[in-house]
Amino acid sequence: MLVIFFFIDGFFLCVNLCYISLGSCCCRWAQFRQMLDEIVEKVDVLMKDKETVSYCGHVGGGHYVSLTTGFRCVDFRKFYLPFGQSEMKPSSKGIALRLGEWSTMTKIVSAINKDYPALANAVPCYLQDDHNNQQSVVDCRECNPFSL
Ligand SMILES: [Zn+2]
Repeated sequence: MLVIFFFIDGFFLCVNLCYISLGSCCCRWAQFRQMLDEIVEKVDVLMKDKETVSYCGHVGGGHYVSLTTGFRCVDFRKFYLPFGQSEMKPSSKGIALRLGEWSTMTKIVSAINKDYPALANAVPCYLQDDHNNQQSVVDCRECNPFSL
């Protein structure tokens, strides 16, 4: 399936893994789906090249989707927190989809959901039952990957 080629490390490869394990990566897929309209909207703004775009959406864990004026791509990247620092940095783990590739990606999202019901029914981490109080949200590594 095409998605295998798109999905690398953390975020992307997880589509395959979570179908098997139903691990936290399903949350990331669910979160990504929730963000999809917003990302599409930002891509449209980016393509018109009339407004500045600076978007960074948290998918889960250390994984983020970002768009920035000047870069005609949608960047899926894992971030990390360097030892002793408080500002996260992008790692080399990720992929920057050119806008044409992104367009293809948006078209296969529904196919992925159709082929993988576990993904289609996934719920974002923050909407799950174990996030019913503030402490559980603070303690969640998907929601707060770099909290100390
Ligand atoms: Zn969480």
